[in-house]
Amino acid sequence: MTTAVHVDAAELELEEIESHLEAIGVPRFHARQIFQWIYRRGITDFDAMTDLGRELRAELSSRFAVATPTVAKHERSVDGTAKFLLELADGHLIESVFIPDTPQQTFCLSTQVGCAMKCAFCLTAKMGIIRNLTAGEIVGQVRVLLRELHMLGQRFNIVLMGMGEPLHNYDATMKALRILADEHGLAVAPRRVTLSTVGVLPALERLATEPLMPNLAISLHSTTEEQRDRLVPINRKYGLEELLDACRRFPLKRRNRITFEYVMLEHVNDTPEDARRLVKLLQGIKAKVNLLPLNAAPGIPFDRPSDERVNRFAAILAERGVTVSVRRSRGRDIRAACGQLITESTRQAPGQRLADKMGTK
Ligand code: SAH
Repeated sequence: MTTAVHVDAAELELEEIESHLEAIGVPRFHARQIFQWIYRRGITDFDAMTDLGRELRAELSSRFAVATPTVAKHERSVDGTAKFLLELADGHLIESVFIPDTPQQTFCLSTQVGCAMKCAFCLTAKMGIIRNLTAGEIVGQVRVLLRELHMLGQRFNIVLMGMGEPLHNYDATMKALRILADEHGLAVAPRRVTLSTVGVLPALERLATEPLMPNLAISLHSTTEEQRDRLVPINRKYGLEELLDACRRFPLKRRNRITFEYVMLEHVNDTPEDARRLVKLLQGIKAKVNLLPLNAAPGIPFDRPSDERVNRFAAILAERGVTVSVRRSRGRDIRAACGQLITESTRQAPGQRLADKMGTK
């Protein structure tokens, strides 16, 4: 248990653990062993770290703890997608999703409790922003999923596409990526991580200078300033044009491209004119487009377009040389799909009560 006197090692990068050890007169190299236990073997109890001497283990137990979110609920979809409702130390709830065989195994992580971005078609937006997650809470989702899914030692990708806007919680998100990338721990290479953002511009500019660079996905969703102002309200502050300029400048590795996510709302942004405008906007950007037919939900005032409309839109992009894919929605039966993550901060009936208030069953 974490008490006031314990330092939470889950919040520390390897070098920070080294400094903490040094400060209490323990050789720095033990930090690597600790890191391996926590991340590679999933052991968070210092007494069980058997390659450390007995006295050292006792000393570490008295000074450190490793906070880990607890599983409040675990649901599996018919398609193999698994949604985990996780409870944080202060009782707040977040969701993390496992998406199998895409063809890789993918963990979809949250970066905030709720979200401040108010996108008009997203269920998480209904929660508002409750708080940022810490780096340890972001990485903790990976530790829990690896343990629960018996995946320790297996490869996986990460998408920061759960609850929250990662660039609205910049420092914790970047620290989490550094902890995840550490070769003594999980060694998740940045190329296996995709950060999805509405385009918080100052943070996007900062991201462009990071040594650890994840893949970038931009939630575009509109081709005009007026429409994006309505659908993705942060556009009123950081407009489409500026956003696309920043994308043009964004440093990309040789064969890498920026993914543009485009949620499709029937008769709103799914017309052939929209598709043609999108092609124009993306000129000069190394881009690919991922179409997300709306995952409809009660309280969301839009409809999902027919497959014909989606295919027509996709065809217009493809004919003009834009790489396009349609996101097959996973886990819709357990409300684990994009934009469907919503929780309540109480311990009872998470998610459901809020959905009830919004007129669902
Ligand atoms: N805040 C980040 C991370 C969320 S990623 C971002 O906005 O990029 C989740 C993706 O799903 C985003 O592109 C988001 O716009 C999209 N999305 C939200 N609600 C959706 C819904 N109801 N149906 C389909 N996609 C949705």
